[in-house]
Amino acid sequence: MSIQQNLNNIKSSLPEHVTLVAVSKTKPNADILEAYEAGQRVFGENYVQELVEKHDQLPNDIEWHFIGHLQSRKAKLIAPFVSLIHGVDSLKLLQEINKQAAKNNRVIDCLLQVHIADEETKFGLDEQELDELLKQVQHDNSQFNNIRIVGLMGMATFTEDQNQIKKEFDYLKSLFDKFKRHFDSAQCDNIELKTISMGMSGDYQLAISCGSTMVRIGSSIFGTRK
Ligand SMILES: *Cc1c(COP(=O)(O)O)cnc(C)c1O
Repeated sequence: MSIQQNLNNIKSSLPEHVTLVAVSKTKPNADILEAYEAGQRVFGENYVQELVEKHDQLPNDIEWHFIGHLQSRKAKLIAPFVSLIHGVDSLKLLQEINKQAAKNNRVIDCLLQVHIADEETKFGLDEQELDELLKQVQHDNSQFNNIRIVGLMGMATFTEDQNQIKKEFDYLKSLFDKFKRHFDSAQCDNIELKTISMGMSGDYQLAISCGSTMVRIGSSIFGTRK
């Protein structure tokens, strides 16, 4: 099937409140344009250099999301245009994003990445680190005028075991609900939890049934990557 057909099939299966991020890493501009012509405007990339090049070359009404692991020293390269950074997992990175956003007179939306998988290799915060990071931002509010924390992101274990994946998605949703309750009533200007980014090609339907509001789908749209 073509990229357009894949995209239309996926889009028609998504509930209204779920945002589709088309993950275009390693794919050529022609593929992205095909999805663009079919109406897709939100794209996700994992590598800074690749994202910068694609942003320069492709239509400027594309909303670019950075979904990889961002190194602090590279934040300045995407700060002029990125619309959402999914994988923030340290205070240091948040401070750097804030600094670079300020230089560009922007407020950059960020998701905090939570470690939900049963694997050592994946990045992310545990519950206590998440709690501490959110409270730091709340406490030093005026130091973070150029970022806004809009939600959480997580990646499930790479496994066929649907029960395991469901448990991990349920866990992320429960953390989201808990922190949302707290920070909605705390009325902190730059913490406004509304997005749960979870679900990829293999598990996005399950993720949505567990409360995801944003799915990141690559291979089911563009085909497998090398
Ligand atoms: C590559 C990637 C995806 C998309 O994966 P697919 O299985 O191709 O849909 C989603 N999220 C992150 C963080 C990724 O790195």
